[in-house]
Amino acid sequence: MSAAARSAAIQLIARKSPVATNQCTKNVPALFGVNVFGLDQMRTALSESAWKALRSCMEHGQELDHALADQVANAMKEWAVARGATHFTHWFQPMTGSTAEKHDSFASVVGGKLMMEFSGKALVKGEPDASSFPSGGLRATFEARGYTAWDPTSPAFLRETTNGSTLCIPTAFCSWTGEALDEKTPLLRSTEALNREAVRLLRLLGDDKVQFVYPTLGCEQEYFLIDRDLYFLRPDLIATGRTLFGAKPPKGQELEDHYFGSIAPRVLAYMQEVELELWKLGVPVKTRHNEVAPSQYELAPIFERTTIAVDHNMLCMEVLKQVATRHGFQCLLHEKPYSGINGSGKHNNWSMATDCGDNLLEPGRSPEQNMRFMVMLAAVMRAVDTHADLLRTTIAHAGNDHRLGANEAPPAILSIYLGEQLTDVVDALIAGTGRGSERKRETMRLGVSVLPPLPRDATDRNRTSPFAFTGSKFEFRAVGSSQACAKPNAVLNTIVADALAHISNEIEKNKAAKGLQAAINDVVVDLFKKHQRILFNGNGYSAEWHAEAAKRGLPNFRNAVDAIGNFGSKKNVELFERFSVLSSKEAESRMNIMFEGYCKAIAIEGQSALSIARTMILPSAQRSQGAVAQSVAAAKACGVDVKVQEKRLRDFSARIESFVLAIEDLTAQFEHAEHHAGAPGDHAKTYRDKVVPAMVKLREVADGLETMVDDAEWPLPKYREILFLQ
Ligand code: ADP
Ligand code: MG
Repeated sequence: MSAAARSAAIQLIARKSPVATNQCTKNVPALFGVNVFGLDQMRTALSESAWKALRSCMEHGQELDHALADQVANAMKEWAVARGATHFTHWFQPMTGSTAEKHDSFASVVGGKLMMEFSGKALVKGEPDASSFPSGGLRATFEARGYTAWDPTSPAFLRETTNGSTLCIPTAFCSWTGEALDEKTPLLRSTEALNREAVRLLRLLGDDKVQFVYPTLGCEQEYFLIDRDLYFLRPDLIATGRTLFGAKPPKGQELEDHYFGSIAPRVLAYMQEVELELWKLGVPVKTRHNEVAPSQYELAPIFERTTIAVDHNMLCMEVLKQVATRHGFQCLLHEKPYSGINGSGKHNNWSMATDCGDNLLEPGRSPEQNMRFMVMLAAVMRAVDTHADLLRTTIAHAGNDHRLGANEAPPAILSIYLGEQLTDVVDALIAGTGRGSERKRETMRLGVSVLPPLPRDATDRNRTSPFAFTGSKFEFRAVGSSQACAKPNAVLNTIVADALAHISNEIEKNKAAKGLQAAINDVVVDLFKKHQRILFNGNGYSAEWHAEAAKRGLPNFRNAVDAIGNFGSKKNVELFERFSVLSSKEAESRMNIMFEGYCKAIAIEGQSALSIARTMILPSAQRSQGAVAQSVAAAKACGVDVKVQEKRLRDFSARIESFVLAIEDLTAQFEHAEHHAGAPGDHAKTYRDKVVPAMVKLREVADGLETMVDDAEWPLPKYREILFLQ
């Protein structure tokens, strides 16, 4: 790797053109879901009685009996093999933040002949060795076995790759002793809790039709693209997903000319293939556009049931990465690949829907619907205010630390944006309470029946809020782009279930004495009063807000390490246990995994930074210094006046000295952190307090050198190249 490689890469890029997929886009409805073995396919493939039995198992969360499992497995295999599948895999989400798969072929040998077979047993349960997945201390080393279990509510799908296809079966992953080792299991448990508590409350509100409530999710996914020929010259991007060095380019995002700009042809060709692949997988992708930073983009699907949407977002991330390589790009999902320009998030649009087709966060036309909406609103306010600490942990990781609180992403302080009109309604309801109970009821009814039409226009929105009401859903904007969204959603479902339970308890307690209407009104207004402090419509980036939030007593966990510790607090463990989402052991292990994840991320960054500094930047700086020194000496020998050049040489050398010192300091800090492990939380603190500042210092000096070293010597592609050449 050398500066010559840099210029060779640039010459290659200049000659690249959009890559054709040669796939037909004429009939998208027919294409949609062709690679999914969904409910329709199952119904067609199964006998009437088997289909009924399977539906009943799915609805009641029961296990399939052997005979039924065999029939489903066989139907699935026939479907997959007819489409060229040779292998199947249980596809699961261990606590690594990505997905895992271990492929087995359908092959079995019967009487000397190879047959393609798939048993019900293999469909329903897999037994991958769990010992290499993080367990946070849950799994004793002598009990390494884990198992994956089919989640029949998530359809199996076919992944087509260059030389064949694989049947993927979405599964949950547990230890042999029954503890969850994945992100999907708590998510499934949390949706059950939400369903239970929402239906209970709706009954109290007089709804006797709704049988089932489920959370919905639409996640807008941001990402960066970089040309692969440049990517391979950046060992930092390869190892850590972000650039550890890089001086500010002459042009960054100042001109604001990228957002919603016309999409470059190579990029558009890539996006079109991504969409095609995702449609085939049944992912309803809808929106594509340029984002704010140069070479940053966004893809958004239509929302779905959360458990499916979470799987689909994992698939989106996989497909974004895989298709990119065919187009000569690398897709970067890191929260902050480049410093000085915007990072990437994943807006997590969350709501609740009923089996009757209603959205519970949709303000309605009738007073009853509006009352239901206000109750749900009060529940969300209570949930986010009471459990802001817990919600904050779900977005806490090393990558997101570069984003949260920087002036381009939501602050680390959680608050809710409701918009002016809805805030006015809440204020009016609160104000009406001081004037006697008759008046109070009147105001409540009044407030509810005159609920104004709420703005749905994107321009009315506050982009600086971490948790914004956007007409019919809440948008949790602080989730990082690289994150699996199972955890944030599991926690959202749980804390809202908790608030719904609180409301039901209050209504049940008071309805006999006060009457039902008054009991409902009182608990809602009470919650508005108590949790009003979580509402904030102003600029979340401003210093005033930080001061104001502190005054209101809202927590501000500035970095991942401070936030993660809350996951295992007494309050939060009790909450998880109360709703059977996580046991105390499971919660503690997850907290440890988050701390370990932080340590690993920083350790890899530290090592990459050191290796690039020592073996790439320092040698190029020294070569450049040598050339300058020789030139100055030669000029001086001829009797030329070189005073200014000598001064510049001294400055250059001083910077190289600082750089070597910074390398030595980072080396020492890194070794200290490596050798002083301690408890997971303490270890993470050491990385945060010792290694991170040393890396920041090293970068500062390196970025200064980049502006002085001969461009023909500089080994790393520069920001002006990676951000603008594609
Ligand atoms: P914007 O946030 O820019 O207004 P949209 O209104 O199109 O964009 O929505 C953004 C995302 O929110 C999309 O993925 C959309 O499907 C999703 N969304 C819309 N309604 C809901 C809902 N009820 N529940 C969950 N997600 C939703
Ligand atoms: Mg949005």
